[in-house]
Amino acid sequence: MKLHHIGVAVANLDEGIKHYESLGLALAHREEVPSQKVKVAFMGTGPWIELMEGTHPDSPVSRFVAKRGPGQHHLAFAVPSIAEELKKQAAAGAELIDKAARSGAWGHTVAFLHPKSQGGVLIELVEEGH
Ligand code: ZN
Repeated sequence: MKLHHIGVAVANLDEGIKHYESLGLALAHREEVPSQKVKVAFMGTGPWIELMEGTHPDSPVSRFVAKRGPGQHHLAFAVPSIAEELKKQAAAGAELIDKAARSGAWGHTVAFLHPKSQGGVLIELVEEGH
C-alpha cells in the first residue's frame, strides 16, 4: 500500500483551496460528488490533500465538521485491487464500512475501513481509475 491522499474536512471549500494554495499546493482536480453529499478538491501532485466540504447538513462530512470542527478526516492508500484488498482486510479482522468497492471522486474506485479496527483512523482504499 502506498499513501494516495490525506482527507481534510473543511467548512468552506473555496477558503480551503486558497489556504492550501498559500502553502504552495496547486489545485489538481475539483468535483462535486452528489452521492456522497460532498464537494472535493485535490491539492498538490500526490500524495494529494483532498479537501472535502459537505453539501448537506446530513452529509457525513458536514456532521464531522459540526461535531469536531474542520481537520484531518482520513488517510487513503492506493491498492491494485479493492476487491482483493477487502478480502484480505476482512480475513485479518478489519471492520469494513464498504463490503464492496464503490465509485469515488476523480474516477477512482474506493472503499472505507472503519476507524474502530484501524487505531482510530478512518482508512480509505483507492483503486485508481486513471
Ligand atoms: Zn479520500
